[in-house]
Amino acid sequence: MRLLEERIKKDGVIKGNDILKVDSFLNHQIDPFLADEMGKEFFRLFKDENVDKILTIEASGIAVAILTAKYFGKPLVFAKKSRTSNLSNEVWTAKAFSFTHNVENTVMVSKQYLGKGERVLLIDDFLANGCALRALRDIVLQAGGIPVGAGIVIEKAFQPGGDELRKEGLRIESLARISAMSEENGVEFC
Ligand code: 5GP
Repeated sequence: MRLLEERIKKDGVIKGNDILKVDSFLNHQIDPFLADEMGKEFFRLFKDENVDKILTIEASGIAVAILTAKYFGKPLVFAKKSRTSNLSNEVWTAKAFSFTHNVENTVMVSKQYLGKGERVLLIDDFLANGCALRALRDIVLQAGGIPVGAGIVIEKAFQPGGDELRKEGLRIESLARISAMSEENGVEFC
């Protein structure tokens, strides 16, 4: 998505060789017009999938996911993060190692909000090693739902998550795919 690539070039800040900070328009301050364009694009890409529900993970996925959900006219559910393992029967849980915070989170979704046979579109802001997306997919599978695909805002294609999950059969559509980045040379797109 051209608009997003231009914004990343203009406002993205690279830390080291593998962290891209987009706090000025996506992860802290949010540009609602850009988020709306992204929601519209995810709708265009997945409109034939008979989506029943959108699922993301708190917190940074929520803004884009809610606008995506608006275009589909379907509810958004977000997985909650907790550091303790919650073994209650009332929640679906999966473990996800956090790339940015370096901790293992247990992510949870109430059984009330994800059910058998539901066709679920996964949305997240970044795809790196694939832990967050894998956790979302696993929660849908536990619930007996169908993960119809994943819409990712920024995929760091030089990290293995995207390739691995595609090989496992998940359809992934990323609005920007970064092939390489460094503080010296900036961002290169695929
Ligand atoms: P993964 O689980 O695929 O390794 O990483 C994806 C999750 O880590 C995303 O939900 C996102 O919050 C965070 N993340 C991974 N890489 C980056 C990055 O370069 N910048 C930011 N801001 N977040 C990232």
